[in-house]
Amino acid sequence: MNQPLNTKVAVENYLRLQFPARSENESLARVAVASFAAQLDPTMEQLTELKTAVSEAVTNAIIHGYEDCPGEVRIECSIREGVVEIVVEDDGVGIADIAQAKQPLYTSRPELERSGMGITIMENFVDELVIESIPEHGTKVRMRKRMAPAPNRQ
Ligand code: ATP
Ligand code: MG
Repeated sequence: MNQPLNTKVAVENYLRLQFPARSENESLARVAVASFAAQLDPTMEQLTELKTAVSEAVTNAIIHGYEDCPGEVRIECSIREGVVEIVVEDDGVGIADIAQAKQPLYTSRPELERSGMGITIMENFVDELVIESIPEHGTKVRMRKRMAPAPNRQ
């Protein structure tokens, strides 16, 4: 189950979503990604973990990226050999210090009673998490999670 992702293999299926950064779209995104990943026949636990990670990334884009101002969130999902890759992207304020943002319990919005655990949860629930960000331009969160065994190659 822990074989690395072979990025030379062609994408087998994909889904692209784009929607306004409104909190009512968060559950839609979570369900759409879960439905897409379901074709890999994952366990309920894998699916719940994936949904939670997507939900945290989309919520971050809306409340931190755009600080509840108008904007657009884009999601790209793809499947290669049993691994689902999800990229959640915003064109918001960006993250100046990604290492600090990743610290458990760090939040820049304590006044909103955020707990600073979203990125830690994502890290725990996916196999690979990469955050890229350019201040004043936006943030891209790439997650990969194996949902089904890799095919055996002879
Ligand atoms: P919680 O997720 O527990 O409600 P939180 O959102 O503050 O709290 P994390 O999700 O771990 O915690 O994010 C940590 C910090 O990283 C945020 O407080 C914010 O400063 C920054 N951050 C995360 N995602 C983005 C983003 N898309 N755009 C700008 N800043 C972000
Ligand atoms: Mg968060």
